[in-house]
Amino acid sequence: MSTHESPGAARPGHALLIRDLMLRVRTWAPGRTIQYRDRVTLTYREWLGRTARLGAWLGRLGVRPGDRVGVLDWDSHRVLEMFFAVPCVGATLHTVNVKLTPEQVGYTIRHARDTVLFVHADFLPLLAGIRGFLGMVRHVVVLADGPWEAPDGLPVAGEYEEGLGSVEPLASWPDLEEDTTATLFYTTGTTGDPKGVSFTHRQIVLHTLAATMTLAIYEEPMSLRASDVYMPLTPMFHVHAWGVPYIAVAVGLTQVYPGRYEPAVLLALMERHRVTFTHCVPTLLLMLLRHPASGTVDWSRLKVVIGGAALLPAVAREARERGICIVGGYGMSETCPIVAVSNLQPGLVGPGGRVEDEVDVITRTGFPLPLVQARVVDEEGREVPAGGEGVGELVLRCPWLTSGYVDDPAASERLWKDGWLHTGDGARIDADGYIRITDRIKDVIKIGGEWISSLEIEGVLARHPAVAEAAVIGAPDAKWDEHPRAEVVLRPGVAAPTPRELVRHLHAAVEDGVLHKRALLTEVVLVESIPRTSVGKVDKKRMRAALKSGG
Ligand code: AMP
Repeated sequence: MSTHESPGAARPGHALLIRDLMLRVRTWAPGRTIQYRDRVTLTYREWLGRTARLGAWLGRLGVRPGDRVGVLDWDSHRVLEMFFAVPCVGATLHTVNVKLTPEQVGYTIRHARDTVLFVHADFLPLLAGIRGFLGMVRHVVVLADGPWEAPDGLPVAGEYEEGLGSVEPLASWPDLEEDTTATLFYTTGTTGDPKGVSFTHRQIVLHTLAATMTLAIYEEPMSLRASDVYMPLTPMFHVHAWGVPYIAVAVGLTQVYPGRYEPAVLLALMERHRVTFTHCVPTLLLMLLRHPASGTVDWSRLKVVIGGAALLPAVAREARERGICIVGGYGMSETCPIVAVSNLQPGLVGPGGRVEDEVDVITRTGFPLPLVQARVVDEEGREVPAGGEGVGELVLRCPWLTSGYVDDPAASERLWKDGWLHTGDGARIDADGYIRITDRIKDVIKIGGEWISSLEIEGVLARHPAVAEAAVIGAPDAKWDEHPRAEVVLRPGVAAPTPRELVRHLHAAVEDGVLHKRALLTEVVLVESIPRTSVGKVDKKRMRAALKSGG
């Protein structure tokens, strides 16, 4: 039957392809720029030409549809080229998390069966140390910002710029099936090896459209605009820098890629290039705001989406006092990632609104994006009604959630139990539809049969003027099963409170009804720093392990 006769069949152009996010900018904003540190400035016209050369060169390197191509780089224009060129020739881009241990990096490259690796010269020694994992790798291409030397024993095919210069740009990109896998990266859970999470063209296109719509249509508390200058502060290896580079190219934003995250360089780039839009975990924002050079930045032009961890009121207030427009977002590796953003619902705040303070809304976790179905269920899978005090696990459905972990059917089945993606996050849904994450389910502290949120105790401690950071885990307790143990970093230059004084501070929150009274069992320990994961979040797994081993 011809396509003409079959009403259900897809017509040319019906497939949702990353290619079609990319090409519009060719005529919309060909002269706008993509900046890499202070080293490279490309117009979109030039960038598109380079991306088409990369497409051609991938063919020369023997990359075929279905192959996996790995990249180990800091955030750069080159990775942005790969975000598009690799999937658009039908291969899968594996963004390797360079912050994992060398063995884990090796594990992910071997598990992904990468055949070609693009590697920044900084990571060549790392790669040389994990040669044993690289059996499938046919070519290593070096990404260099200066002189480099090839270590022995790696199949180095040459340098990126030379390679791009050696081919003619691809004349056109192929038509693909929209369910072709476009990207792959690994997430480290609480146990076991890293798990591979992948997304198709269709999923990335739909995520791009829905996230753009959500970030750009609502004005409160902020809105992404076509005139914004974008710089990522979430690494490109972590869920495609939350997918925002795909948005930025699709709508033709001026972009800045900062390379390796060095606070002084980030601040200088933000000021020099007048960055207006970014996204990051809360810790990174605090680190920049409290950096000695932070006074050189005009923060009042900046809009920031905070995600990856709860946006605490204390952090939101500190950012707003500096003039930043801030909003919260929620998602995880498995969700592409954005599924909720804490925009202000009409009439919720302001004269006659039910909430006094904007901060109370933007620090709720978020309102689901269009096409996202969110529910909270109890341990038996029964829905916990919205608007009550009941907490359960947040489960999700929407078209851009990963269909499962690569080559791990058992974990995929657990993820998708009962046809909903299980986030592992404890949550409640407000009567007006906002999701509130109460805690990672495994981070909830079980005190004498009561479940207490570690995030709530952290939130109260963070409000104390002497506290720079606080992280709370459950510590074994002979009487109560567990009690909360708070590791607290104090701000430099302020009068240091004793642990007892910090517990008294919790007392006030209990009296105000903000905290459960069992939170008063908190043991407060003053520490120099709090362990972080490879993407900058508090590493509670390491905190628990250190406590267990008496560290
Ligand atoms: P990852 O897969 O590394 O991106 O981590 C995802 C996890 O980060 C989620 O499952 C949550 O536990 C946590 N997370 C992300 N966004 C938020 C948020 N807005 N509030 C609280 N926790 C969050």
